Amino acid sequence: MNAPAFLPFTRPAIDAATIADVGAVLASGWITSGPKVQAFEAKLSELFGGRPVRAFGNGTATMEVALRLAGIGPGDEVVTTAITWVATANVIHAVGARAVLVDVDPLTRNIDLDAVAAAVGPRTKAILPVYLSGLPVDLDRLYAIARRHGLRVIEDAAQAIGSRWIGSGLSGAIGASLNGAIGASLNGAIGAVGDLVSFSFQANKNITCAEGGCLVLNDAVEAERAERLRLQGVKRWGLDGMEVEEPGGKFNLTDINAAIGLGQLPHLDAITARRGELARLYFEAAARHGLRDLGIELPLPTQARGAITNWHMFQVVLPTDRIPGGRAAVMQALKELGIGTGVHYPALHLFRFYRELGWREGQLPQAERIGRAILTLPLFPAMDDADPDRVCAALARCCKDLLA
Ligand SMILES: *Cc1c(COP(=O)(O)O)cnc(C)c1O
Repeated sequence: MNAPAFLPFTRPAIDAATIADVGAVLASGWITSGPKVQAFEAKLSELFGGRPVRAFGNGTATMEVALRLAGIGPGDEVVTTAITWVATANVIHAVGARAVLVDVDPLTRNIDLDAVAAAVGPRTKAILPVYLSGLPVDLDRLYAIARRHGLRVIEDAAQAIGSRWIGSGLSGAIGASLNGAIGASLNGAIGAVGDLVSFSFQANKNITCAEGGCLVLNDAVEAERAERLRLQGVKRWGLDGMEVEEPGGKFNLTDINAAIGLGQLPHLDAITARRGELARLYFEAAARHGLRDLGIELPLPTQARGAITNWHMFQVVLPTDRIPGGRAAVMQALKELGIGTGVHYPALHLFRFYRELGWREGQLPQAERIGRAILTLPLFPAMDDADPDRVCAALARCCKDLLA
């Protein structure tokens, strides 16, 4: 019998019309930022209830610009999570500020909002939450903390396009104070409410441009400054007018990449629904193969604690303290069975740059435990309905073989 094809942990789906559109851009004589970027920004703005949106070359650049818009620089602190892609904290240091890393909630694996409130000090300027695997944090509590201390919020929603926050009070407290009734009318779509919300369209994300990102803002003045910071700080007028008032980066999205994003957006609802269906099949298969009995922790259900996830990832936490060889041994065994997995993410404060700033093992125990043991299982729309069962069966078998 032939072995089944290798199942990667993720794979983008680009349709033929999108490939043709990219070809048309390449043939058009204008391949960098232009009409496709403008059209992409307009479509995104529709998705986020008409808020201003500016596109960037990637999510990291988007967040760096968001931090600069919020006036964050040397001497400032930004409170963020220790379980995230390194970009989240790196950009805080890139603008000269300090990332104050706090622990995560063991069930959501997102930033622990009690720890956020405790970490706010005189130098704190902003909170930077991350929606790991697309699961939003409690936005009501988050914005209540921000309001109480007069802080900006920069949402790292890199993974959260299509996710929603439906917790109590959204259409009231947050919606009214920040964006009128917009949030309520969009059923709490992430990006439709809030302060500065950053998305990534990197290749693995639910919607991709290959590389890309966007920032959702609230006012025209900040949006215009975001445009300048995106491209060298240059302000232009007339045919030859040009001024630089502050240095910006080279952070623009190209029309080639925007064409990919434009081809993806119409599929957002179908992509989110398909991911939800595969997650449901994962939960059924996990029960069938007794994953919990083996000490494997599953993610929260699709709708939990007022949040609806877009299932950017399906992540388990392994009982690594009882597995000689730890997570790597499980990943190797799964790989030999034709199943790809990923690590998202090791605890950030244990990387050398952060240890040299004084962070130590033992300071953030949940992040450390999850960082050692979290494993991303395959989840992408083109997967077969039978794949979640195959993955859970293999995971159960590997853990039984490896458990000490
Ligand atoms: C992908 C991602 C980023 C960075 O986005 P890029 O487009 O790769 O620069 C930042 N934070 C999180 C949580 C991400 O998943």
